Amino acid sequence: MTKEEKVTSEKVGIYPGSFDPITFGHLDIIERSSKMFDRLIVGVLCNKAKKPLFSAEERVRMIQSVTSHLDNVEVCSFDGLLVDFAKLEKASVIVRGLRAVTDFEYELQMAQTNRTMCPEIDTIFLTTNLSYAYLSSSIVREVAQYEGKISQFIPAQIVPLVEEKCRCPKD
Ligand code: ADP
Repeated sequence: MTKEEKVTSEKVGIYPGSFDPITFGHLDIIERSSKMFDRLIVGVLCNKAKKPLFSAEERVRMIQSVTSHLDNVEVCSFDGLLVDFAKLEKASVIVRGLRAVTDFEYELQMAQTNRTMCPEIDTIFLTTNLSYAYLSSSIVREVAQYEGKISQFIPAQIVPLVEEKCRCPKD
């Protein structure tokens, strides 16, 4: 098989999100879905309208540092339509995590919209690890802001960064 044939036969998945910051819930989805693809791309949505606490570059670096043990995982930032980014990366599957029914309505709407725009790309949902069903980036930011312990929510190597940023958000 030529290199070109190998590239075109690769199964590529995309796990998009804000990851502001990445939590153990996200990491669990990355670890599980990375086993389903030749390559998994974690797509960090720039989305300045959402006014993220961390810049896209900071979020990419944090995710890279906590996924360095996963050989087939790449981390990139993107702006614009997810389906355009997926096509650019030759991904055929979008991965999303579901924590509770509250996630479902929005996720279903997004999946159907993306499928209408781009029928060759499918969305799959992985249910959360029950240990992290309650966990979100906003909860981590809130706890950190009030100097609560966040090491049970996010990987140890990014705890100091998140603590510092949440306590002095302008830095
Ligand atoms: P977005 O702004 O796209 O919702 P998030 O970073 O909040 O970005 O989430 C990215 C994806 O990860 C979403 O599919 C979300 O449902 C999922 N996710 C977030 N937290 C968890 C968790 N604790 N367990 C499983 N999936 C999660």
